[in-house]
Amino acid sequence: MKIINARLRHLPGLHTVACAAERIHSITAQAAQALAQPGDLDAQGLLLIPPLVEPHIHLDAVHTAGQPRWNQSGTLFEGIECWSERKATITHEDTKARAHRAIRLLAEHGIQHVRTHVDVTDPSLAALGALLEVQDEARELIDLQIVAFPQEGIDSFTNGRALMERAIDMGANVVGGIPHYEHTREQGVSSIRFLMDLAERRGCLVDVHCDETDDPHSRFLEVLAEETRARGMGARVTASHTTAMGSYDNAYCSKLFRLLRLAGLSFVSCPTESIHLQGRFDTFPKRRGITRIAELDRAGLNVCLGQDSIQDPWYPLGNGNILRVLDAGLHIGHMMGYEDLQRCLDLVTDNSARALALGEGYGIAPGRPANLVLLDAENDYEAVRRQVKARWSIRQGRLLMQREPERVTFM
Ligand SMILES: [Zn+2]
Repeated sequence: MKIINARLRHLPGLHTVACAAERIHSITAQAAQALAQPGDLDAQGLLLIPPLVEPHIHLDAVHTAGQPRWNQSGTLFEGIECWSERKATITHEDTKARAHRAIRLLAEHGIQHVRTHVDVTDPSLAALGALLEVQDEARELIDLQIVAFPQEGIDSFTNGRALMERAIDMGANVVGGIPHYEHTREQGVSSIRFLMDLAERRGCLVDVHCDETDDPHSRFLEVLAEETRARGMGARVTASHTTAMGSYDNAYCSKLFRLLRLAGLSFVSCPTESIHLQGRFDTFPKRRGITRIAELDRAGLNVCLGQDSIQDPWYPLGNGNILRVLDAGLHIGHMMGYEDLQRCLDLVTDNSARALALGEGYGIAPGRPANLVLLDAENDYEAVRRQVKARWSIRQGRLLMQREPERVTFM
């Protein structure tokens, strides 16, 4: 397959990208607009990017909002109550069907790499078993990384450590954690040491739900960062949410950022979820309840955006469109300066790929997998401003998805 008349990010003019044997073969600058030969895909001047990435979602809970009842207050706590009622009726087939439905939505929006957290604080590890099957069944559409996520804690949950070990034995790719939810500070710290040991021993990546609270005293990120620094694991470790950072004072943050730079770990923010769930103990003034996205970015740290939920007890909206989350993240994170807008797709492509440690398996360069997406825009700014959609999605050198452009007629 040859894609002609494609625009590439931050490069002038039009380009031809040739693919062969499921890989990108060559990228050539065109002197002028090219005429399509049979078999060519004419990009018509649209923006060709590597696939969009979803670095943080919970596929075991998607499409359960309103079952058996709606979360009326919109709080995290009522969400947990609704979830425990819904959990009682979950079956293997139900988990798989909902995950597949969500994966189709993600793929429809040009996403081909997904990291899902799966609750492993369940002695049967049923959801993990279901998602491992989905990982295999959905490989035509997406590459799926599975995080062993201890929703109810590691050291404060019965057999929490053994369940984490078993989840990795079964095939989970990433070690998770939730230190701020453990019963005590000591358990939070010991859970981080345990999960880092486990990941190091088993050669896994790490992605911890870290300090997802407005409590300014929730300071497990410094523990995770120091463990990361001491073990030299920066390229393999991600801290998700870190919303407490939005409540830390600047004196503490200036010390913390020094350590974060030394550790070199990645960050995922889920701005729509956090603006919805955090700030709930405030009256006014009310905190935004998200991490310092712009400040992390400007400090040279790797930060990306995720959706977290699609229609679950904690978040009733969501449709698989990561550009909607990017739009919200740029607003909430005060990132609408011209320079930020010119490179905003970094937050949902390259930065996310780095957090997922995709390495040479991602990006537009000869020899890399021919996984590509054409967005209905000319550049980053227009893509987010017009909230465009993926027009074509190409996977392993073959056309995976095509969308007809919207047409409006005035009468
Ligand atoms: Zn999450």
